[in-house]
Amino acid sequence: MSAYWSRIVRDLVPYTPGEQPKLDRLIKLNTNENPYPPAPGVVAAIQGELGADGERLRRYPDPEGEALKAAIAHYYRQFGITREQVFPGNGSDEVLAHVFYALLKHEQPLLFPDITYSFYPIYCKLYDIDFECVPLADDFSIRIEDYLERDSAQIGGVIFPNPNAPTGRALAPDAIRALLRAHPERVVVIDEAYVDFGAESALALAREYPNLVVVQTFSKSRALAGLRVAFAIGQPELIAGLERVKNSFNSYPLDRLAQAGAIAALADNAHFERTRAAIMQSRAALTRQLAALGFVVIPSAANFIFVRHPEHAAATLAQALREQRIIVRHFRQPRISKYLRISIGTPEECAALVAALQNFVSPSKSRKEVAS
Ligand SMILES: *Cc1c(COP(=O)(O)O)cnc(C)c1O
Repeated sequence: MSAYWSRIVRDLVPYTPGEQPKLDRLIKLNTNENPYPPAPGVVAAIQGELGADGERLRRYPDPEGEALKAAIAHYYRQFGITREQVFPGNGSDEVLAHVFYALLKHEQPLLFPDITYSFYPIYCKLYDIDFECVPLADDFSIRIEDYLERDSAQIGGVIFPNPNAPTGRALAPDAIRALLRAHPERVVVIDEAYVDFGAESALALAREYPNLVVVQTFSKSRALAGLRVAFAIGQPELIAGLERVKNSFNSYPLDRLAQAGAIAALADNAHFERTRAAIMQSRAALTRQLAALGFVVIPSAANFIFVRHPEHAAATLAQALREQRIIVRHFRQPRISKYLRISIGTPEECAALVAALQNFVSPSKSRKEVAS
């Protein structure tokens, strides 16, 4: 605390990102990073973009990211997405910040689930946007009726991830369509950070509904969390609003290397399909193995699972795993304090996790297995 801080800064409670431990040889299953490397063409594209001796770094990057916009529009051409409907930015955390500032009413409460991405209330506080948390059902699903029955004039907009985080539960596009129809004068933001792991994208609705914003990221399914690239898709008037904010804040949000790397990632569909299929397969296997150990596993359409054990406290399990050099995420929060969020790793990492948990939750059983 400093006497020089502004009033807003004094009142901020910043987001705490998942730990990025400095230790080597950890099995890191706490921040939903991709366990596989990015498409091989990404590194080549970044090297090419550097030029000889990094010569090209002298020049500013394209402030609008036109080539990346074109690549994203082309990638989603089956939905009729055009370049004017794409807004790239420095990770979805930045894209979302601009969406909050530019496209949501600040005076009426923005609606989002009580259990969701914990960054949303933080943007609200930063920008002085009113908000209201809508409780998930007991099974952690989003009850769309709770949002449909609200009076449009009394809400500022709606946002949630699909699949939701940290639960992993997905909602069908019909529910999102109903929401867009119920509140035509309000923006509905669908944060699709995990959509490539088994949910259906709302992008199919982008042409039809002028109040839809879909946000996607290269951090999870494209294995580029370190490069910081994401984008919003919406109708051109919404995108123009985002560009006004961007150009009032930082006109070069994406550096040259990020733009080149992201374009290369989109170009390699075979790598994308292979790695996401492997992750979904590991998720299914891990779900079965943890259920066999007595865990309750929430059905997940994301690259993580949300689990609890009826006989073991989540904090104790997290600590026991940490002692085996395996890091998972535990949220000390009402309703979910009994749960652990575990990112899907490689098959070897998942096996190490299961072995560590086996020793902890049923020592006699695993001893027997070792003996036989
Ligand atoms: C990981 C995540 C993001 C942020 O992704 P970046 O593009 O890396 O900033 C956004 N929303 C949700 C729900 C996430 O889990």
